[in-house]
Formats: sequence, C-alpha cells, structure tokens
Amino acid sequence: MKCKVVRQHLLASARPARPPAVMAEHLAQCAGCRAFQRRLVNIERLVPEQPVPASTAKADCVQAVLHSDAFARHEAPEVPWRQRERALRKVAITFAMAAGLLFLALVWYAWQHHQNEIANLGVPPAKENRLEDIVNFYDRGALLAAHPRERFERLTVIAQKLHDKTKERALDENFSEVSKLSAQYKILLEEGILADAAKVPEADRKELLGSVAEQFSRASSEAHNLATQHPMIAQPLDHMAIVANNARSKLRELAGI
Ligand SMILES: [Zn+2]
Repeated sequence: MKCKVVRQHLLASARPARPPAVMAEHLAQCAGCRAFQRRLVNIERLVPEQPVPASTAKADCVQAVLHSDAFARHEAPEVPWRQRERALRKVAITFAMAAGLLFLALVWYAWQHHQNEIANLGVPPAKENRLEDIVNFYDRGALLAAHPRERFERLTVIAQKLHDKTKERALDENFSEVSKLSAQYKILLEEGILADAAKVPEADRKELLGSVAEQFSRASSEAHNLATQHPMIAQPLDHMAIVANNARSKLRELAGI
C-alpha cells in the first residue's frame, strides 16, 4: 500500500488513531506515515479546545420557529360582534370609573357634612342673624306652621333652648358664644314670638301668652343672676335679661293681663 493512499485515508477517517488492519500493517513498517498519523491524532485531540466565535445559531433557530407558519398569528379581520363586545367593555369600564368617582364624591360630601354637624353641635350658627335661619336651626319649618298659635308655641320652645344653651355657655364664660346667643334671642323674641303673639286669636291669648310671659319672666331673672355671677360676660347676659323682660311686658299687654 502506498504512503499517499494511507495518508489520504487517515485524513478522511473520523478516527485516525484506529486505522483498519491493512493500514496498521503499513504504519508498522513506515516511520513517515506513523509520524503523519501521530500529528493528525494530535490535531484531532486539540480540536475541541480550539476557541470558536460565539454562535447566533440558537437565537436564529428560535426566531425561525417563532416566525414559521406554525406560530404565525392569523390576522383574521375582527368580526362585528367582537367589535361590539369591545365597545361595550369600554363603556362598562368608563361607567365603573365614573361610579367610583361619584362614590368618592359622596363619601367626601358626607364627611364634610358630618364635620359641619359636629362643628354646629351645641354651638349656634355664627353667621345666621335672620329669624328664619335661627328658627330652622332648632326646628326646621316652624315658621311655616299654618296656625299662629302653633307657630307661637314652637318658637317659644326654641326660645327656651336658646336660653338653656346660654346658661351652659355662661358656665364656660364663653363671651363670643353668649353674645351670639343673646343676639339670636333678641331676634327670635322680637321678630318671631311677639309678631306671632299679635296673631294668636284673642280667645287663646290670656292662657297661652300668659304662660309664655311667665317663661320670659323666669328667663329674665336667670339671665340677670348669671350676669352677676359672671362679670366677664355680664353685658350680653344683661342684654338678654332686658329683651326677655320687655317680651314679658308685651305679652302681658297683648293678653290683657
Ligand atoms: Zn508510508
């Protein structure tokens, strides 16, 4: 066997270290071919250790699969019912958001309202200097009562509440609140109670106006006593005592007592 044939065979072989028997015989006798075989085997052994440039084959393969027909998205035109469904869903989401906002607004409103109620609890409204506002704060609609007698009675109940509240506030020596109450008391008595007293039928006057005159008589002396006990707030209390006493006189006059 010629050296050339042996070497070509070794080059083509996947396992040059293990040649077939025919070649082994030649290699045993030919030092040149043995040296050739040794170099070749060395090269084969080093191949796995050769550095190779990074391959993009894996990524290319993934891309190829993803863009293949099997994974292609079928861009079928949207059917009308699906379009409608999508539109309805949008409307539903919009409504849900609007409902959420409305709910928040209501919660906020309720909270504010509640805060206002807390602020007003036991404290007469500061800005209200109109008879209607004062009355509605304690007894909404009392001024709308059809009969003067009923209106008169409801207003006298409010006068008692204002007076009781004044006594409470006088204990704290709260000048601004006692002043406010005193001013409201005057409006209630002069613009409300005395005005309605004149409309009460004459037959009812003696009994009804007479008892309210007694109420104001007591209120007047209580306010006067409080003024003596609390000199710091004597002025609005004395004023209240005078208003109550004047109302008493007017009522007795109207009642013919
Ligand atoms: Zn040879």
